[in-house]
Amino acid sequence: MTVRVRLAPSPTGKLHIGTARTAVFNWLFSRHQKGKFLLRIEDTDKDRSKPEFTQNILDGLSWLGLDWDDEPVIQSERVEEHRLAISQLLDRGLAYRCYVSEQELDVMREAQKASGLPPRYDNRHRSLTNEQEEIYQAEGREAVIRFRIEDETTITWTDMVRGPMQWRGADLGGDMVIARRASASSIGDPLYNLVVVVDDAAMAITHVIRGEDHIANTAKQLLLYQALELSSPTFAHTPLILNPEGRKLSKRDGVTSISDFQAMGYTSEALANYMTLLGWSVPEGMDEQFTLLEAAQCFSFDRVNKAGAKFDWDKLNWLNAQLLHGWPSLKLLEALEPRWQREGWVAKDRLWANDLAILLGPSLTLLEDGVNQARPFFEEPALEDDALNQLEQDGARPALQALLCSLELNAWDGVDVELAQTLLKEASASADVKKGILMKSLRAALLGRLQGPDLITTWGLLARLGDDRKRLRRCL
Ligand code: GLU
Repeated sequence: MTVRVRLAPSPTGKLHIGTARTAVFNWLFSRHQKGKFLLRIEDTDKDRSKPEFTQNILDGLSWLGLDWDDEPVIQSERVEEHRLAISQLLDRGLAYRCYVSEQELDVMREAQKASGLPPRYDNRHRSLTNEQEEIYQAEGREAVIRFRIEDETTITWTDMVRGPMQWRGADLGGDMVIARRASASSIGDPLYNLVVVVDDAAMAITHVIRGEDHIANTAKQLLLYQALELSSPTFAHTPLILNPEGRKLSKRDGVTSISDFQAMGYTSEALANYMTLLGWSVPEGMDEQFTLLEAAQCFSFDRVNKAGAKFDWDKLNWLNAQLLHGWPSLKLLEALEPRWQREGWVAKDRLWANDLAILLGPSLTLLEDGVNQARPFFEEPALEDDALNQLEQDGARPALQALLCSLELNAWDGVDVELAQTLLKEASASADVKKGILMKSLRAALLGRLQGPDLITTWGLLARLGDDRKRLRRCL
């Protein structure tokens, strides 16, 4: 049997971290099993589905390196298949039209609540006579189509993550709505649980791997597989991603879409690595830093945890920093350049830009840090308070003045380490200040702040622009 799995995102928003993590597990399993990873765009909610979200989802998956097989299936194009399945259920008496109005449902739920019962549909239109149906139709009521769920049924399956599972029909909320906006002669709009079953069967999906929030749907879907005489796939329900407080990660937690992580400067490799660790424990002896391909080689559901996975920013940041620090300078430059261009910055030349990337690389956690830290190399920085205080230190200005004099007397093209050391020594001697004070003051003058990357290299880069002198002059 060839393993066939799918990701079935709804294009009602940008690619969410939860969906992306589900995609990672689907991808890892399919690649480990040498099977197929398919996509299905679940765009049946016409009001909320948008083509730009579909594009965002596809772009996000590609960026993460989660390549899929075949063309994505577009669910809305399959509506006639869905309706056909519903008419089979209607013909066989397994589904029926229900005319209960929203208000009647509300009254029903209130009464249940008042008697301390969980809300459910009480199956009251299960056995309407033709005459009753006609009366409701004549009243102009819209129908839904409901699938019969017997309270006495027990649904069982073995979940690849959670082991043996059991649900009672009575806990599924009564007969399930499988289509809305139906009429006496039409089926209307088929709904999620029905269409997912019809589509997964049509795509010959062998394993459905999705978030734990779908468990109750699985019980309902298994009943539909049975009723439609389709063979059901194996299920794996992966743990939810929780925020650091232990609640389900939601929009309120800030960044949750993959394109936002991308914009902040997370690398696709670190994010894919981290998402794999959200719920999967590495086998003994395996490093926690790995590529998707390495994880695919040993991926199995035995090592997927049942408990929710807490999102740990520190760990993700650490993984990202490790990755960035290992990048060759050209790769780093290529990642930083579009961000610099976005700011309207033009580098002196490529060699200079490459040297800047080499200078900043070791201190980056996010690629976006490479914008903040590069700013004083492209724009003259304002002097921060502590930089101003530093320049007030005894001897600071005379030493900088001495330094500037040597620079102006000798029109050097640049400042290399050796020359820099000599100049610093001479200037501190002539102004009679400690070299440490001079260096601190030089940093304050060049960068406008007291922290930053290696001073001599910083000076060298600014000297190549002639900006070292300008910045010294304005401080004197
Ligand atoms: N469209 C559903 C979702 O995004 C798919 C769930 C499933 O995998 O069946 O939650």
